[in-house]
Amino acid sequence: MEPDCLASLCLLADIVTQTSNWKTALDALIEALRSAIIFDNFAIFRADANGQISDVAYARAVGRGKSGEADVAWGESIANQVLSVGRMVLQEPQVSLNTDRLQRPYLLGLPLKAPGQTIGALIFVRFGGPVYTEEQIKIAILAAALVSSLFEREIWQEKMAECEAIQRQMNLQEEFVATISHELRTPLGFIKGYTTTLLREDTQWDAATQREFLTIIDEEADHLTDLIENILETARLQSDTLQMTFQPLALERVIRDVVVRAQTRYKGMRILLDLEPVPLIQGDAVRLAQVIENLLNNAAKYAPGSPVSIRLWQEKNRVLISVADQGPGIAAQHLPYIFDRFYRVSDGKTHPGTGLGLFICRQIVQMHHGRIWAESEPGHGVTFFLALPCN
Ligand code: ADP
Repeated sequence: MEPDCLASLCLLADIVTQTSNWKTALDALIEALRSAIIFDNFAIFRADANGQISDVAYARAVGRGKSGEADVAWGESIANQVLSVGRMVLQEPQVSLNTDRLQRPYLLGLPLKAPGQTIGALIFVRFGGPVYTEEQIKIAILAAALVSSLFEREIWQEKMAECEAIQRQMNLQEEFVATISHELRTPLGFIKGYTTTLLREDTQWDAATQREFLTIIDEEADHLTDLIENILETARLQSDTLQMTFQPLALERVIRDVVVRAQTRYKGMRILLDLEPVPLIQGDAVRLAQVIENLLNNAAKYAPGSPVSIRLWQEKNRVLISVADQGPGIAAQHLPYIFDRFYRVSDGKTHPGTGLGLFICRQIVQMHHGRIWAESEPGHGVTFFLALPCN
């Protein structure tokens, strides 16, 4: 083997092992291959589980007069052949008097293999010849083996990411079961305890104490209802059975109603409003109110005593709402996950909760073709933003 050829092989192997992104690796591979094989176009066809072409993963034109991306049709027929036979296919043009070199493609197709299956085909084309030499074919075979391992690595990386996501979800669910048992037991414990106390025949309670105990029972029953409603809502969202009634909606009205309710619930909560006139949107008033209410409930829970500012304004064809508090905020590493199902930053002892509130908010906003996100500077509070389309 020529020293030049050996150097090319080493370079190819090096590129594949050193480059983590497969597209970058392929770009570098093409450059390195060009010093060993002359070709005009190069394409990689990926196969589906049935061995049929699923997509063109990569196409490059390095030669004269052709664009790889725009014209991969030249490779499709040979790629199909490679996939059906699972072996190398070499196609040379019939001897003809045609002097247009673009009409005389020399095609070399190689299978991309993973254990037990053909995962694609790698195709070289050289317009107008000459024929591929034995040495060039060997290098092409090695290139195909390297590309196969690149794709396999890609498949494994995707599978790993999927496994990690599933694992994360399973951990969250396990935590959720633990949290939910605790969350259900606590109010039930209060209700049972105070009811038993009131029913004791050996003790007389004065009217004020009776009222105090009944108030606790009442509040805890409400808490239990909220909790169960959240869990059911999540189940409905996941089975796509949550009903929405869309109609033209004045968001200012929705916000003002929610604020009145919040101020009854959280006596002393300071809510500052800055509501600009905005167009009507198509939406479900009850559900959108639920989103804003949930943000206010969170502000009351996680930023107690802090004033809350609500803004409403329009930006081009969307209407935005922000709800900002001046509480402890949320650390950057948690921000991407707070809208995930069951995700909680706080522990259950300090702040009861299920990690479902923001998940439900996001689902509702997405059903309105909108977006919800949060920005936070820890120590200076958190601002939740809602963007909804207005036409
Ligand atoms: P829950 O309140 O039941 O835990 P949510 O989905 O409503 O669930 O919120 C997810 C997490 O986001 C909470 O556990 C909390 O740590 C954090 N969070 C939400 N709102 C705020 C806020 N206003 N300030 C600080 N942290 C917040």
